[in-house]
Amino acid sequence: MLQIHELFRSIQGEGPFAGRPAVFLRLSGCVQPHCPFCDTPEALGKGKSIPVEELVEQMTSGGPGLAVITGGEPFLQWESGLKELEAALLQKGMEIQYESSGRAGVPDGVQGQVVLSPKPGQWPPPSVLGKAFAVKPLMGDKPEIVLREIYRSGLPPEKIWLMALGASREEQLQRMPLLWEICTRYGYHFCPRLHILVHDRKKGV
Ligand code: SF4
Repeated sequence: MLQIHELFRSIQGEGPFAGRPAVFLRLSGCVQPHCPFCDTPEALGKGKSIPVEELVEQMTSGGPGLAVITGGEPFLQWESGLKELEAALLQKGMEIQYESSGRAGVPDGVQGQVVLSPKPGQWPPPSVLGKAFAVKPLMGDKPEIVLREIYRSGLPPEKIWLMALGASREEQLQRMPLLWEICTRYGYHFCPRLHILVHDRKKGV
């Protein structure tokens, strides 16, 4: 059984799988204390209890493809159903990508691709970062803060997908020229946030 907030189909908007159609599963609940700047507060509650078999059926109804599992913090439910869901989806030929802050660690044996979005001042330790396929930090008005965190993490540039902070199209566009310059200088992936550029502040797209 998993606690879920929502299940929907869309296009992955950011990171190494950007542009790909995917089925999104947003699990409920996150590590305490919750971040004061949380952009998905609706996913922090208890959510609905759905059996794993039912989720597999719904998530594979469109045939094999990409499943993006996010939250809240998805790995909090690893032992209570997520591990089982992963195995069943892989068996049905799905590709899996996790979106996680890394605050609950990354379970040993996870087979999907883990994309971490560390929160400012809460970067996970190297043992957790090292399990990530990609890391996509946010850059605000003070790039030196995120650049320091990246430097301290010891991650190679090819693992970094740097994104602009900001929930609106206007904020994204404003920060992109500097983001471009920094990615060029340090060899990071320039990571647009397509869902914001296309839909602005609209949620659940
Ligand atoms: S880790 Fe993400 S989902 Fe959890 S409280 Fe912080 S911003 Fe919200």
